[in-house]
Amino acid sequence: MDPLKKIKPQVRALSAYHLKPYDCAIKLNQNENPYDLPAEIKEEVLSFARTRPWCRYPAFVPDDLTATFAEHYGWVQEGVLVGNGSNELILATLMVTLGPGARVLIPVPTFTLYKLESTVLGAEVSTVNLNPDYTFDLDALRLAIREQMADVVVICSPNNPTGCILENDDLEALLKETDALVAVDEAYHEFCDRPSCVALLDRYPNLIVLRTFSKAMAMAGLRVGCLLAHPDLAGEIGKAKLPYNLNFFSHAAAMVAIKHRAVLQERIDHLKGQREVVSRGLRETRGVRPYPSHANFILFEVEDPKRVFEGLAARGILIRDVSHYPMLSKALRVTIGTDEENEKFLEALQEVISRIQT
Ligand code: PMP
Repeated sequence: MDPLKKIKPQVRALSAYHLKPYDCAIKLNQNENPYDLPAEIKEEVLSFARTRPWCRYPAFVPDDLTATFAEHYGWVQEGVLVGNGSNELILATLMVTLGPGARVLIPVPTFTLYKLESTVLGAEVSTVNLNPDYTFDLDALRLAIREQMADVVVICSPNNPTGCILENDDLEALLKETDALVAVDEAYHEFCDRPSCVALLDRYPNLIVLRTFSKAMAMAGLRVGCLLAHPDLAGEIGKAKLPYNLNFFSHAAAMVAIKHRAVLQERIDHLKGQREVVSRGLRETRGVRPYPSHANFILFEVEDPKRVFEGLAARGILIRDVSHYPMLSKALRVTIGTDEENEKFLEALQEVISRIQT
C-alpha cells in the first residue's frame, strides 16, 4: 500500500514552502517590522483578553472589525473579509476560482505562494517575466492577459522580492482589458508613497485587494489579513474561509492597533528613511547592485549570492537568499531592520564581500 499515491501528482511534484531555520541574532529575512507593538497597545489587548471567556468561540461575523477595516482602508463594509493572515484570503480567492482547466497568470519573480497554491488546486499557471531591471513589463502583461484568457491574474505590488510597483494607471489599463479577476496583493503598501488601488474598487468589479497586518502594522505573530472587493465577489470568496478563522485575541489586537495607528505610522516613516540609508550603503559597496524598492526590503545582486548569504549568517545576520527564483540567480533580499541592525548588516556585508574578492 502506498498512501502517497492518493496525493495529487502535481502536489507530489512540488517542493513545500519552507524556511530553513538559522540561529542568527539579527533577523532580516522575513520582511517583518523590527519594532514590536508598543507596551500600551499590548496591555490594552491583554486586559481585554483577561476578561473575555476563552471557552467561547470568536464572533462568527466580526462586524466591528469589518466596519473598522472599511473605514481604515476606505471601502464599503459589505466588501470586506478578514482572514487569518492575508495568505488565508489569497488561498480562499484561488479556491473559489481555480481548478483543473482554469488558468492563472502571474508576473514573476514574485511571492511563491501564488503559484504553489494554484498548482495544488490543479490550475494551469502562466507566468510573465518582469523587465530585466525588475520593473513590471506592462506590454508583456497586457499581451499575456489578452492572449492567454486567464481566469485570475495575481499581482503583488509592491512586489516581493523585487520591490517594484504597478502604478494605478497601469493597473487600470489592465483592468479595462480583461474580465479576469485581478487580485492585487498590497502586503507592503504602507511603505510606498503611491495611492492604494482600493481607490479603483468602485469602478472595477473584477478587482480584489489584499492587505495584511503582518508587515507595517507589526503583527506578524497574530495573523490578521484583509480582503477588499465588490460585495458580491467578497461574498463568494467568503464561502471558502473557515468558520471562526480569526481568533478573538488577534481580532482585538487589530482593533487596538488601528486605534493607535499614529504611533505605528511614525515607525513606518522611520523605516522608509532607513530604507534610503541601506540603499545608499548598498550602492556604495563595491560589487553590489541594489534595486529601487517601495517596500521594507531591498533586492540586491552580488557575484556569489550563496557565499555572501552564508558569510552574513556566520556573522549572525540572516537575510533571504532568493537566487533560486526565476531571473534572480545573483540576488539576495534584505529586510529593513532597526538603525543598529542596518548598520551591522552593511558593515558585515562589506567585510564578507571584500573577503570574497581577495
Ligand atoms: N503577501 C506577500 C507578498 C508576502 O510577502 C507575505 C509575507 N511573506 C504575505 C502576503 C503574508 O501575509 P500574511 O502574513 O498576512 O499571511
